[in-house]
Amino acid sequence: MKNEVGRVSSTMLSSDESVESSFHLGGGVMSGQVKDYFFKLLVIGDVCVGKTSFVDRYVYNKEFDSTYKTTIGVDFAIKSLKWSETERIRLQLWDLSGQERFSSLTRVYYRDAIGCLLFFDLSRAETFRTLGKWKKDLDLKVHLPSGRVVPCLLIANKCDLEDRAVSEEEIDAFCSKHGLIGWIETSVKNDQNISESIRTLLTSVLEEVKKEEEPLEREKRQRNTYISLNKEIAKHYREQTSAGCCSLGGDKAEIL
Ligand code: GDP
Ligand code: MG
Repeated sequence: MKNEVGRVSSTMLSSDESVESSFHLGGGVMSGQVKDYFFKLLVIGDVCVGKTSFVDRYVYNKEFDSTYKTTIGVDFAIKSLKWSETERIRLQLWDLSGQERFSSLTRVYYRDAIGCLLFFDLSRAETFRTLGKWKKDLDLKVHLPSGRVVPCLLIANKCDLEDRAVSEEEIDAFCSKHGLIGWIETSVKNDQNISESIRTLLTSVLEEVKKEEEPLEREKRQRNTYISLNKEIAKHYREQTSAGCCSLGGDKAEIL
């Protein structure tokens, strides 16, 4: 898979204007033979579960660093990946610090997001217990244009650690109760399941986007048929009016 990466900025956002996207997020845009998708993905969960380490590993291929550095506000990173011969995905990954869950700023961070990675630390049960609140908060603050919830994948990080505090049954139960697309064990430390997680989430996101695009495409096709039909009617009327037997002008018929 061929990727391009780059850091956009690392900043504490303070107003709506600060996060205006430079491009339209979501649906695909044709550039030549390739369709470009612009996706904003959220990376959320408690502090110290491995969110920033995950993004650093995935986007910058950084070596694992065991020292903890607090994320202030939000970090966002971009990565472009070739999904198929005809599709390219341009990703924005928004890494939230985990401290501002209930602050009024989060709605701004969540805006236009189309997918979410929800993290917990397999070795600390308390980071699992807060997941319900995170998911509820997510579903409250952001939706797909259709009104459906955004696809969300649960990341059970630090699976390299021996002391597991949460059982697989509990995780399964959480996922079905809260409508997650599934869960996946990761270890940023051992570089395990990082790109697989992103690929799993993107597969669901693309399915959703294509579902959302379908009615639009259908409407466009119908409109095209409608327009060509109207042109025929207009032509007919023009012929009629030039023959002087009809009061309805061609222009009027064209905008029916
Ligand atoms: P964040 O607050 O969620 O962004 O967490 P960080 O990415 O800053 O990581 C918090 C701490 O957990 C750091 O000390 C990391 O080195 C460590 N960490 C992150 N991922 C893993 C992992 O997969 N395994 C282990 N053992 N430690 C990890
Ligand atoms: Mg962080």
